[in-house]
Amino acid sequence: MIIGIDLGTTNSLAAVFRDGEAVMIPNRLGEYLTPSVVSIDDEGTVLVGKTAKEYAYLHPLRSASVFKRSMGTSKVYNLGNHKFSPEELSSLVLRSLKEDAEAFLGCEVDEAIVSVPAYFNDFQRKATKEAGELAGLKVSRIINEPTAAAIAHGIGSSPDQEKCLVFDLGGGTFDVSILEFYDNVMEVHAVAGDNFLGGEDFTQALAVDFLEKSAVAPETLDYKTMNDVLKAAETAKCSFAEKNEVTLSCTVDGSVVSRKYTLSEYEELCQPLLERLRKPIERSIRDAGVRIEDIDRIILVGGATRLPIVKNFVVKLFKRFPGALVDPDMAVAQGAALQCGMKERNEEIREVVLTDVCPFTLGTEVTVYNGLFDESGHYLPIIERNTVIPVSRRQTLYTVHDNQTRVDVKILQGESRIAGNNVLLGKISVPVPPAPKGQEAIELVYTYDVNSLLEVEVTVLSSGVKRKIIVQNEEHKISEEEAEERMKKLEYLKQNPRDEEATKLQLLRGERLYEEASGELRERIDRAMMDFERVLERQDRREIEKARETLAHFLDTIEYDIV
Ligand code: AMP
Repeated sequence: MIIGIDLGTTNSLAAVFRDGEAVMIPNRLGEYLTPSVVSIDDEGTVLVGKTAKEYAYLHPLRSASVFKRSMGTSKVYNLGNHKFSPEELSSLVLRSLKEDAEAFLGCEVDEAIVSVPAYFNDFQRKATKEAGELAGLKVSRIINEPTAAAIAHGIGSSPDQEKCLVFDLGGGTFDVSILEFYDNVMEVHAVAGDNFLGGEDFTQALAVDFLEKSAVAPETLDYKTMNDVLKAAETAKCSFAEKNEVTLSCTVDGSVVSRKYTLSEYEELCQPLLERLRKPIERSIRDAGVRIEDIDRIILVGGATRLPIVKNFVVKLFKRFPGALVDPDMAVAQGAALQCGMKERNEEIREVVLTDVCPFTLGTEVTVYNGLFDESGHYLPIIERNTVIPVSRRQTLYTVHDNQTRVDVKILQGESRIAGNNVLLGKISVPVPPAPKGQEAIELVYTYDVNSLLEVEVTVLSSGVKRKIIVQNEEHKISEEEAEERMKKLEYLKQNPRDEEATKLQLLRGERLYEEASGELRERIDRAMMDFERVLERQDRREIEKARETLAHFLDTIEYDIV
């Protein structure tokens, strides 16, 4: 069985194609959004999602979040005594989604279409595939998030030609894409973005201003208090969706600090962030060779587009209201599920041929005659950014020295004229027969497939010698044994039993709220927790469920009082 997965920076979601439409898959708590958070508790049990997020408030050093930003890098996360790569952490989230899908669908789920930001480079895409494999899922396709969102918004479901701009502001990333649908083909014309701009920055901006205006130096705060401030800022930020004025309150050094913010004050302090949204939009429009007026639809995706200041920004910039048919949180997962339907050639769905573009220019380093002498270190683009993929491009290069015996080809990714400023993806070295300079030639073939994996082949034209590589992150290359070992390591981690998840979540919430509260409130929480623990000891499932509901309700009222 195949499912569509939106592996998000803040939240992840899964959906399945069923009876001609995308159906969202609830997780073990009955919710659609699973926070992309992983923790390991002191007994060594892995927690994922909302439970992990709750655990993280009290145990930030045993928890990890926002690891999607580090996909494809060698960053190591220490959770207690365990070390994890970003792929391993992502695989734990994927495994949890896979189990939830299996429970919901009643069959094994072994394949997935996983979305990634359009701006992800090769390393990040490969890391995403690897995360799937570690979770026991064959990632049969990686789909760009905006493409998935456009499909969910029905682009491509009628034969009409249409151009749309997808504005995707998630928790940690911002992507803009310009897509065009015509003759049954969905073509991505241009992508641009900022991998370090998202809803979290809008939370941070509020938290920083709150501390500054309250004369609290952030560096004096411990980890937990800082987390509390961020949590309060997040809650306040989200309430702007309904209110024009919010109050941010938090306990700092034992006393409650409160501050009111109006929407226009908040808009003002987020001005630098809003300005940063403008650049990728302008670049994508320029790269796609369109005018703002040519765009038929604006599609908002990502939780942070619920922010009224972001919506206003879009309305002002495009002088029109964005389409609001699909929940901005669900669009990507739904699109990925619809893509599963297309992949299986389901009759109930119109098949749309997807074409994507490569987000960065790919090229090599060459020596160029500058009129006086040969100057090395120049960049020669081979596949220009925003070229529709799959694509294959050839380039012939000549030797630059007399009797040169080798040619070293650098595979580079980036936009800089100076080769050294671009990212080195790999190297291939080929022997060439000695000859006067310029006489021996090699041919480079760069092939970029639909999953944005790059293959480079070098042929020495005179001798026919060929070398080929599929570009791998050198830092990251792992052998088969290592991959197996990593699988085993993850398999041996104890999982929190699915049916105990809701109980664990309320127990953790109770503990946190107890720590946040004081005086009489603490006593009430303590009593409620003791009552619940006594019910747990009796091990009667029905009684536990009832008591858990009562506790959850009680904690809800407290949470509301505290914040
Ligand atoms: P995503 O990565 O798409 O799940 O988006 C997560 C981001 O959306 C986080 O930064 C959230 O704070 C933000 N978000 C979710 N709901 C709201 C809301 N009602 N108002 C403002 N931001 C929100």
